[in-house]
Amino acid sequence: MKNKILSNFKNVWVAGHNGMVGSAIVRNLEENNINVLKVDKNLLDLRDQAKVDKWFAKNKPDLIFLAAAKVGGILANKERPAEFISDNILIQSNIINCSFKYGVNKLVFLGSSCIYPVSENLLKESDLMNGKLEETNIAYAVAKIAGIEMCRSFNNQYNCNYISVLPCNLYGPNDNFSNDDSHVIPGLIRKIYEAKKENENECSIWGSGKPLREFLYVDDLATGLIFLADKYDSPEPINIGSGEEYSIKEIALKISDIVGYKGNLAFDENYPDGVMRKILNSEKINKLGWKPESNLDKNLQKTFDWFVNNKNLK
Ligand code: GDP
Repeated sequence: MKNKILSNFKNVWVAGHNGMVGSAIVRNLEENNINVLKVDKNLLDLRDQAKVDKWFAKNKPDLIFLAAAKVGGILANKERPAEFISDNILIQSNIINCSFKYGVNKLVFLGSSCIYPVSENLLKESDLMNGKLEETNIAYAVAKIAGIEMCRSFNNQYNCNYISVLPCNLYGPNDNFSNDDSHVIPGLIRKIYEAKKENENECSIWGSGKPLREFLYVDDLATGLIFLADKYDSPEPINIGSGEEYSIKEIALKISDIVGYKGNLAFDENYPDGVMRKILNSEKINKLGWKPESNLDKNLQKTFDWFVNNKNLK
């Protein structure tokens, strides 16, 4: 018989349950008959310290997945850095401080592979803070690094159990599929879908198409985060990636196939490429016994289907 997941916890809160990551965690937990605390953005602004404190006092979670964050793609980060640094620092600081005050047993904090110094090598956890950050997302990265350091410091000084997990680029249902704010997969799905709908013979794609990225489907991330909530108790951050690396051009071609778009893909180098390669070394989590299911083609199709059924919402 399969071991029951999260059996050490009674009251699980997924902060950010409407987002792509939070909703995937909730889907997984509810399929496993685990009751999940959720609170909508319009009922609790996580940037508001007093309101967050009151919510903790009333709801008393003992395990938190901190998936609430301000996220966006390369352009949004470049154009609105003040929001990315400020909102993220407020959200994570309020939740971590209250977790300590109200005796939360475990907290799972989400970082990102974009907080690593620029490098074309496999990014290892020990590379953090060893070099210069990528120019377009410094504000977001500094906020997330502060969150990781806050978890580590609370563990070391107060013996808390707050873990930090660093995923590679993610995609899946409930992502932001807007033209300008989104990450590359949802952005390309929208642009190529619209080019096909409008019968355009050319679709413009940001950048050179050459950068390499590692992509993980968000349902795989959810299994990894739940696995780590059960199995990983260390102040040191841990990577989670698929090991599958593609160029942006390869991804754009795959999406064109799924959409059935036959026009030309025109790469516009006036838009930033960001780092040329970003791939994680996921040995640590693999050795603990977790691997993703990872089938990019099947999961891109699922993501596209979700977009077609929900595009009016986003
Ligand atoms: P990054 O990994 O932080 O750079 O995240 P993104 O997902 O925003 O971008 C990845 C790469 O895809 C960059 O090289 C972008 O220039 C490229 N790209 C191509 N088209 C798009 C698009 O429509 N949206 C986004 N966000 N990136 C795109």
